[in-house]
Amino acid sequence: MGVSANPPGDPSGKVAVAKLEDAARLARELKAPGGGAKFVNWARKHSLWPIPFGTACCAIEFMGMVGSSLDISRFGAEFVRFTPRQCDLMIVAGTIVNKMAPVLKKIYDQMAEPKWVISMGACASSGGMFNTYSVLQGIDRIIPVDYYVPGCPPRPEAVLYAIIELQKRISEDPDPLKSREAMREKWIRGIKGRGLTPKAKLLLGKDGQGK
Ligand code: SF4
Repeated sequence: MGVSANPPGDPSGKVAVAKLEDAARLARELKAPGGGAKFVNWARKHSLWPIPFGTACCAIEFMGMVGSSLDISRFGAEFVRFTPRQCDLMIVAGTIVNKMAPVLKKIYDQMAEPKWVISMGACASSGGMFNTYSVLQGIDRIIPVDYYVPGCPPRPEAVLYAIIELQKRISEDPDPLKSREAMREKWIRGIKGRGLTPKAKLLLGKDGQGK
């Protein structure tokens, strides 16, 4: 649904809704039980602010996605910011080496709730071809991931698809004001779920509480 501000020169403070049927449907939904949650979800879904964590070639494909041909602003997600406090969608695009992993974790922690993560490409999702001592074998060993985008590199359209899927999930959140952080910490692969991996031990110390 399109919503536009006042026409130039109209100081009335009114907001125009593009389609009358959409406006009527939105009004009906907001009056029904659970309408508050629906409204919050609707606003969130159309105002994702991504923070790109681009470290390698996948970041070039990310640039293709925000460029004019694909243009994620069509989905309300064009405000790419490089400060975690203003962002709610982290897109990790590229190889994450062990030295970079604590920085990634810190930036994720600094993002305000609610927040989501898209792991873009084979390197971010699993270490990719770099099965070496120095590369993190998947960012989900240190931060929770909502969507994985396969490929080396993935096409920008694939990342766009992940964003659209995320928007669908946000719009169906039954309890948008509940923090999911505790659940997410448990979910992190290899730290709480399946025990410490050798690399998680390196990053977090033997007890998993951080050095
Ligand atoms: S997945 Fe492929 S394209 Fe993406 S960062 Fe790794 S090597 Fe580069």
